[in-house]
Amino acid sequence: MDLAAYQALLKQLNTYAYQYYVQDQPTIPDAEYDRYYRELLAFEAENPSLLDPDSPTLRVGDKPLSHFEPFSHARPLGSLGNVFSFDELAAFYKRIEKDLPGVPLSFTVEPKIDGLAVALHYKGGRFVVGATRGDGSTGENVTSNLRTIRALPLMLTQNVDIEVRGEVFIRRSVFETLSDRYANPRNVAAGSLRQLDPAITSQRNLDVFIYQGLYDGIAGHAEMLAFLKSLGFPVIPTVFQGSSLYELYDACTKIRELQSQYDWEIDGAVIKVDSFSYQAALGSTTKSPRWATAYKFPSAQAVTVLEDIVVQVGRTGVLTPVGILKPVKVSGVVVQRATLHNMEEIERKGVRIGDKVLIQRAGEVIPEILETVERGEETRFFSMPTTCPVCDTPIVNVEGEVAYRCPNFFCSEQVKGRLIHFASRDAMDIAGLGFALVSQLVDQNLVKTPADLYTLTQAQLEVMERMGAKSADNLIQGIQKSKSCSLSRFIFALAIPFVGEHAAEVLAARYQTIEAFRTATFEDLVAVHEIGDKIAMSLMTALNNADFQALITSLLASGVSPVHADVGGQGIFQGKTWLVTGTLSSLKRHEAEALIKSHGGRLLSTVSKTLDYLVVGESPGSKLEKAEKLNKQSGVVQILNEEGFLALLNH
Ligand code: NAD
Repeated sequence: MDLAAYQALLKQLNTYAYQYYVQDQPTIPDAEYDRYYRELLAFEAENPSLLDPDSPTLRVGDKPLSHFEPFSHARPLGSLGNVFSFDELAAFYKRIEKDLPGVPLSFTVEPKIDGLAVALHYKGGRFVVGATRGDGSTGENVTSNLRTIRALPLMLTQNVDIEVRGEVFIRRSVFETLSDRYANPRNVAAGSLRQLDPAITSQRNLDVFIYQGLYDGIAGHAEMLAFLKSLGFPVIPTVFQGSSLYELYDACTKIRELQSQYDWEIDGAVIKVDSFSYQAALGSTTKSPRWATAYKFPSAQAVTVLEDIVVQVGRTGVLTPVGILKPVKVSGVVVQRATLHNMEEIERKGVRIGDKVLIQRAGEVIPEILETVERGEETRFFSMPTTCPVCDTPIVNVEGEVAYRCPNFFCSEQVKGRLIHFASRDAMDIAGLGFALVSQLVDQNLVKTPADLYTLTQAQLEVMERMGAKSADNLIQGIQKSKSCSLSRFIFALAIPFVGEHAAEVLAARYQTIEAFRTATFEDLVAVHEIGDKIAMSLMTALNNADFQALITSLLASGVSPVHADVGGQGIFQGKTWLVTGTLSSLKRHEAEALIKSHGGRLLSTVSKTLDYLVVGESPGSKLEKAEKLNKQSGVVQILNEEGFLALLNH
């Protein structure tokens, strides 16, 4: 980078920072910003004499908005330095060791909440004023908005004068109930706190965690957090303590693993020297303390070029457009393909081949293309092919459906897709039947339908690529074992469009035997609770199809014998429908749901007149409102808090 490039980058970063800090509307992902920022830092480290006083590396945040009263922080609020790897963490650790020679070191490691920093002042135990961080020395007085945050105590348990600092954020469960006008939870939290009408802030159900207290007579951070808790503050949860580098790294890893379980966004872990006297000895730079750093987790988003869009044929014949990307690393994994879902999505997002696109990888799911971030110089529009790219059959676009389909039941991609679905864990649970093997079996004409799996021999399997006698034997055993299965799994395994696991359970409960199921009529099906017209139509198409009936016949002839296990039929919640919303304190939502199921209850996904019980945790959002509204009309839904739910369970 030369001086001109440095200055151009600096200008660009200041624009991004303004959009992020002042307007709460970032235009690039944080990870991209961080990357550019580090480029800038590297240049400045190599060329200290060229350091521009306007550099974002010298500033905390950005200037406060003028429509709020400015608030001067008596002690500035810093930013945090950051590290992105074990080696960088080790360098931080070694620096502290060097600066504090011979001192027994002790650290805390806590989640880094992705919200916005606030300073809160209490006088005589009463909340008096609160402000945003702003540029570190001057923030915005947002006291009225802060008062609307229910988790924030307005009175403490002791009459103390204290300043505390924390992070205002919005819970994921609340964020999900908002319309998608906002890019991410951090922007919503910032935008909601920094607008002029407290009534609007109040509606957003913001939350806060406190992570710092300024109060004399306490020796270190961990002790301070305990004191803050005793005063009634919602203190940052899951704080680890450690002294060796490995303990710190281990704690960061643990926090990273907890990431998906939290109801709030975190973007890293914060490592702090515990002792306040050592903190004072280490001091701060113009921007951030030397006694702390943020271990940033690799972001799950990245920007890359969309080089092409190809079409993938699924097991039900649905054509899915898939983006072929210029390879890019996303949270440690090289991504080359990402889904674009369907034609409607492509049109809605205005994505063109050749564009620079933002991709996201969440957990183990297939990466997706979120949006175009920059139009490419030469771009092409994508259009759906008119014939199937696999078997050349003309494509159909069923009216009222977004999907384009290949209607050929024997299209080899569909056959493969159905076989993989048939063997999957939630269906017939046949381990070892992955895509590579299924492809070979289909391409070599050994298997055309799931029934053919049951006639495969050891000799046929052994010779397949990457198979041996042992794995062939294991697979044969797995196939044999799958013969005794539940009726609901069997129905699900048949890969009927729109018939998911839940619908399969409902159908199994209604028909009890495969014979009754395969002779069901349309009138009969639509009368089944939770089977709507769409599923019923799809079932009728399958049941009236001779190939489909022949498949069931041959599966039964091969010895597959599905029986109806009365799933969820027993227990005190038997026959009742349930829905859990909001955050529970003693158990996770999925644990509550598992308890409901194991006691015979059935889970619904939306509030409707057929709902019997709604269990409400903290920040319940629109589901509670809807249930209350319904109750005004008909009083059908019993609304339980967590205690009520547990009491009923233990009754
Ligand atoms: P930061 O947000 O990375 O770290 C400092 C902040 O962490 C503190 O002010 C505090 O609010 C917060 N924090 C959360 N939990 C904490 C805890 N337990 N203990 C202490 N502090 C805690 O620093 P920053 O200077 O506010 O922002 C820099 C980051 O903002 C960048 O790394 C980038 O990701 C993002 N950013 C993005 C853009 C963009 O255009 N996308 C622009 C500017 C900044």
